[in-house]
Amino acid sequence: MASTEKIRIAIIGGGLAGATLINALLKLPHLQVNIFESAPEFSERGAAVGLSINAQTALAEIGGDIVGAPDKAGAVQMLSSRLLVACGPDAGEVIFDLGAEKQGKQVHRAALLAEILKPVPKEQAHTSKKLLNIEEGAGGSLTLHFKDGTTFQTDAVIGADGIHGYVRSYVLGADHPALKPTFAGFWDCGSVVSVEKARTALGERWLRDGEERQYGWLGDGGFFMYGMLDGGKNVQCVASALTDEEWSEDEWKRGIGREKLEEIFGGWTNAPIKEGIIDILVSNPDLRAFSQWHFSKDAPTFSKDRVCMMGDAAHALTPWQGAGAGQAIEDAMVLQTVLGKIKTSSELEAAFRAFDEVRRPRAQRIRASSREAGITMCGRGENGMNVEKVREELKSKWDFIFDQDQKEQNDNAVKALLNSLGKDS
Ligand SMILES: Cc1cc2nc3c(=O)[nH]c(=O)nc-3n(C[C@H](O)[C@H](O)[C@H](O)COP(=O)(O)OP(=O)(O)OC[C@H]3O[C@@H](n4cnc5c(N)ncnc54)[C@H](O)[C@@H]3O)c2cc1C
Repeated sequence: MASTEKIRIAIIGGGLAGATLINALLKLPHLQVNIFESAPEFSERGAAVGLSINAQTALAEIGGDIVGAPDKAGAVQMLSSRLLVACGPDAGEVIFDLGAEKQGKQVHRAALLAEILKPVPKEQAHTSKKLLNIEEGAGGSLTLHFKDGTTFQTDAVIGADGIHGYVRSYVLGADHPALKPTFAGFWDCGSVVSVEKARTALGERWLRDGEERQYGWLGDGGFFMYGMLDGGKNVQCVASALTDEEWSEDEWKRGIGREKLEEIFGGWTNAPIKEGIIDILVSNPDLRAFSQWHFSKDAPTFSKDRVCMMGDAAHALTPWQGAGAGQAIEDAMVLQTVLGKIKTSSELEAAFRAFDEVRRPRAQRIRASSREAGITMCGRGENGMNVEKVREELKSKWDFIFDQDQKEQNDNAVKALLNSLGKDS
């Protein structure tokens, strides 16, 4: 196929979703792909991201350099995610070891993003390009209008522009009830310290040398978490809490200090790591509480004509099941599959419909499950802090996420595409 006949794809947003997608699509010679990021550089907020087993199997399906990207970025393989009771009479009791047989990896976000973007030619990666509008032209061609006054012609748009992006409004319509995210009722704050400092503050028993795992502590109205990153040199510590406080979309982070942390967690009795976590958190001079948002109203579709959305733009979810990045990677995998099968731009709509058919039910199920898990992990589910019952309740919540057969998901997408194109599979 001559280069002039290539199908032109514009990806909006250069977070983990958009970056993974361009990496995946660069392998398809019949596509001409460009990525547009509104910020002056490609960057990631926050320290660590967990890549659960399904994220790793999706990366393996995408193939090529991206398979090794987490390890090159210093990913640490976790023996398990160990969930324990943080306070009360059962404090210190292990609820379960999640992922002991299906181990996840913990990796620094910015390092991972940089690795994933390495193969992307500079002339195809554009920064300071905030998309304001998509204009439909003749023959299905689309014109992108950016804030800096420039325009770009393309055959298709994939919105990976996150929870506050533009593309969702194009796909759903500006007045759609599912357009805006809602505050999920939790906040979190975090700090990264050296492993030596973390071990001193938390105690050797709760961060054993040579045992690389993630620890989560289920408390009374809140939750603590910590895990290694940067090849085991550093530890990220996080505290989260349920709250009745109002948060507006404009005010998604607030300063937080020892006084507030003591007010929330100080009453926890018998809590072995409470003081250590608080000490670690307040050692971060720039400590902030970030509110957690999600799309509590599910989008009825992820695509409209030649425009579709993926990642947080399509299905932003709370972090309680560590699943958002994994879902973005699965999106990229399926888009690579369906776009790999089409030959002309007239088949783009069918490809996006197939993507929607396969990805939307799974991503939206995880979105709902994640918030429920968060309430339980903050000790406020129907079983409160009853260890036996919480163990039972949470045990199966990850199975459908981890056990996804990615080849089957791709096969289903191909079937949906052929069906949409009116061809037999
Ligand atoms: C506290 C926390 C912890 C988490 N932990 C985990 C975890 O352990 N495991 C896991 O799998 N997931 C986790 N997640 C979720 C995960 O981080 C996200 O789901 C994932 O990073 C996918 O993001 P994205 O690329 O879709 O969106 P984003 O990271 O928001 O990227 C969107 C990009 O689009 C750009 N943009 C926005 N508007 C425009 C525009 N108009 N034009 C051009 N560019 C635009 C933005 O600048 C941004 O760079 C966590 C999330 C949070 C908040």
